[in-house]
Amino acid sequence: MLPTSHEAEAAVTENEQGIREIRINPVVPTESVLVATARSMRPRKAEEPAPRDTRRRVDTCPFCPGNEHMTPPTLLALPDKEHWEIRIVENLYPVLGDDRETNTLVLGLQQAIDGYGRHEVIIDHNVHGIALHEMSVDHIALMLEAYRTRMAQLYAADDRLKYVLVFKNFGPAAGASIPHTHSQIIAMPVVPENVHNEVTHSRAYHRKHHKCIFCSLIDEALTFEATIYDRVSGRIRRRISVGQYVVERGERFIAIKPFASRYEWEVHILPLHHQSDFLDLSDEDRRDMARVLKRTMARLDAVVGGVQYNYFFHSRPRAEEYEDCAPSYHWHLEICPRTSIPTGFELGSGLFVNTVSPEEAAERLRSVRIDDPE
Ligand SMILES: [Zn+2]
Ligand SMILES: [Zn+2]
Ligand SMILES: [Zn+2]
Repeated sequence: MLPTSHEAEAAVTENEQGIREIRINPVVPTESVLVATARSMRPRKAEEPAPRDTRRRVDTCPFCPGNEHMTPPTLLALPDKEHWEIRIVENLYPVLGDDRETNTLVLGLQQAIDGYGRHEVIIDHNVHGIALHEMSVDHIALMLEAYRTRMAQLYAADDRLKYVLVFKNFGPAAGASIPHTHSQIIAMPVVPENVHNEVTHSRAYHRKHHKCIFCSLIDEALTFEATIYDRVSGRIRRRISVGQYVVERGERFIAIKPFASRYEWEVHILPLHHQSDFLDLSDEDRRDMARVLKRTMARLDAVVGGVQYNYFFHSRPRAEEYEDCAPSYHWHLEICPRTSIPTGFELGSGLFVNTVSPEEAAERLRSVRIDDPE
């Protein structure tokens, strides 16, 4: 049976002024989002974000070609060191290190752990200010290969590492401190709480329903239809139709607007076939994912207008206690565009407020016309 999330958790009412409902994250039910499209929820819109740097090359930038001496030594270069398009180096200011004793990392409820780990920078492209949707599909596929290779190397090098987090901050609004396009890798001796919650809740779902919840959500996004009735009057409140949450679809990957999106333009990309570990990505997968990612970013850039975002990969952790999660966990990429800043209400309640209904957001993203991107 598919989760009844769409019906059961639509707690409040919808009227002419828009939607106002609390939506429970189907994967992690302890997380919820207030979807409130009424104008009164909107004053928190961020000021005009600082414009991103679009220059091709900057003489003083340590990540631009020719300035390799300004960074720590190259750990990995693709396609090769001399004509690199992608280069991985150690972070000059790591939050975790493998040689320092004083590092501490705080995760969750006052839990401090020894800050053992690795923090590295992936220079995504040799063109300084290029946006992801401006890169070629081949290049994005190479970047995914760089992520995968380095993750595999880190896990292989040290079995104390339980999680390798790959993420990207793009643009000043997303906290990117260096304007040259880059991603980061943090390899850590603990499993981050967000990942732990997803893994344990999806395992519980699998035990009960003998299905992967992410596969169920994909099926639902592709085939689900529902009519939501008002509990009191019995009137039809809303119909959810086929494909309503699908933003982009490839042969092997899909981009979905989550039903309980925390951010107005949040989109997740998942493999269509069940796969728990990002390291299992095949060459054909990479190319299809690169295409889906590029097209999704082009849609976001068009709708948001120069999108600034964070994205991160969630994949099965490399720790004994998660070894049984291969059938129940499904790796994915979460893209979180930054268009507003959290308010006291959000910080105080822990409830994310989303002022654009995910149904409308998906519709607007889908309707962007994009040229074939090869
Ligand atoms: Zn640069
Ligand atoms: Zn699955
Ligand atoms: Zn996730």
